[in-house]
Amino acid sequence: MAKGERDYTAHVLVLPYPAQGHINPTLQFAKRLVSRGLKATLVTTIFISKTIEIEPGPVGVEPISDGCDEAGYAEAGSVEAYLERLEAVGQRTLAELLDKQAQAGHPVSCLVYDSFLTWALGVAKGLGLTGASFFTQTCSVSAVHYHVYHGNLKVPVDVLTTVTLPALPALGISDVPGFFSDVLSYPGYMKLLLNQFSNLENADWVLFNTFDKLEEQMVKWMEERWRMITIGPTLPSMYLDKRLEGDENYSVNLYKQDIAAYMKWLDTKPTGSVVYISFGSLVELSEEHMEELACGIRGSNKYFLWVVREIEKKKLPAKLIEDMEDKGMIVTWSKQIEVLAHEAVGCFVTHCGWNSTMEALCLGVPMVCMPQWTDQPTNAKFVVDVWGVGVRLKVDDKGIVRREEMESCIKEVMEGERSEEIKRNAKKWKELSKEAMDEGGSSDKNIDEFVASFLKT
Ligand code: UDP
Repeated sequence: MAKGERDYTAHVLVLPYPAQGHINPTLQFAKRLVSRGLKATLVTTIFISKTIEIEPGPVGVEPISDGCDEAGYAEAGSVEAYLERLEAVGQRTLAELLDKQAQAGHPVSCLVYDSFLTWALGVAKGLGLTGASFFTQTCSVSAVHYHVYHGNLKVPVDVLTTVTLPALPALGISDVPGFFSDVLSYPGYMKLLLNQFSNLENADWVLFNTFDKLEEQMVKWMEERWRMITIGPTLPSMYLDKRLEGDENYSVNLYKQDIAAYMKWLDTKPTGSVVYISFGSLVELSEEHMEELACGIRGSNKYFLWVVREIEKKKLPAKLIEDMEDKGMIVTWSKQIEVLAHEAVGCFVTHCGWNSTMEALCLGVPMVCMPQWTDQPTNAKFVVDVWGVGVRLKVDDKGIVRREEMESCIKEVMEGERSEEIKRNAKKWKELSKEAMDEGGSSDKNIDEFVASFLKT
């Protein structure tokens, strides 16, 4: 290559909302752009770059200030205050970064920005760049938000209401996104979710981390509204299609982990015999809830691998956990994808965050759903009633899953009457997700079309 000549066709900047569940999928998407000959740079906040371990592989990483460099979100004091600061400071620091890239001879052609960060479209358009909004939640959940934004659905949703909306199954009160039954407790988040639609018609592209067959009707409904495409599942390539260079790791880790120990332990267990339990990076449970779950796990008499984050560990019933040691392991963080891909894992007790749900779907692992808030209840509805790959735990009046319920749901998924059907469905979705990402698959073709659009301009 001659001096000064570029070894890439265009440069794309990818800007996720600064949280684990948003950085993971956007980083994986960026890797796919690199595999198509593009240069991709992930933009994080300075605080995130100091606190989260990012294994970017072939993707560059550039931190910018969000005005909370020392303590991140906590520094602002509230969600509302953080979002205001992020917007005010982010607009400036993002524009400075774009300028810096141009000065360094790497001008950016396209900005892929998190659908939460609507202000980033203004920065892109101001510089004549292609702007693509990246949604990290499903089309179905986003459509519910869209209807609230446009006044077609009033919130808070009444307990007795069944929500019926185009291209969606009927949703009961326990299926609508979490904030809708309790809007007043989360005004900041609610605003953030509804704001996603404030300037979406101006975006050149709207990208969703899902695939066509998973949400067939809803995808069609959305295609009529925006230049919308599915680009998922954004799992590391080795789990889906031909392996991408530098894609050995699943990217982003909130906590350090001793992967060797529990993977070795899993190696000693029979196929499909272990229950993996994890509630993502944010969920917090009461001591009483932890104890009920622990009793339920013990009652099921299955092997288990349970992720309990460091800050949650003190809530565990110490004596009981000691008694359970012969059956399982508790870790403070796992390499979840590698765990779910392990053949010893037969069931995933999950909070149904979209990344976790998608990971289980793509790796063919049946789920026991314990949704808590945001999009999780709606994801759980789809897992159980639409995709048929799991069961949902019932809660009591205090919102707690009791031990008998935990025990019986684990058994139902692993050995009960419906277990064969659930496993068959799980296998089907695993195959379909691979097909979507494989050469010529729906998401693969969509990414090609997306890339071609700004290579021409
Ligand atoms: N995760 C992980 N190890 C863990 C727990 C979670 O790697 O022990 C990853 C998981 O694979 C997923 C992300 O963290 O990619 C969690 O995202 P999700 O949308 O499921 O939930 P959130 O944390 O946003 O509630």
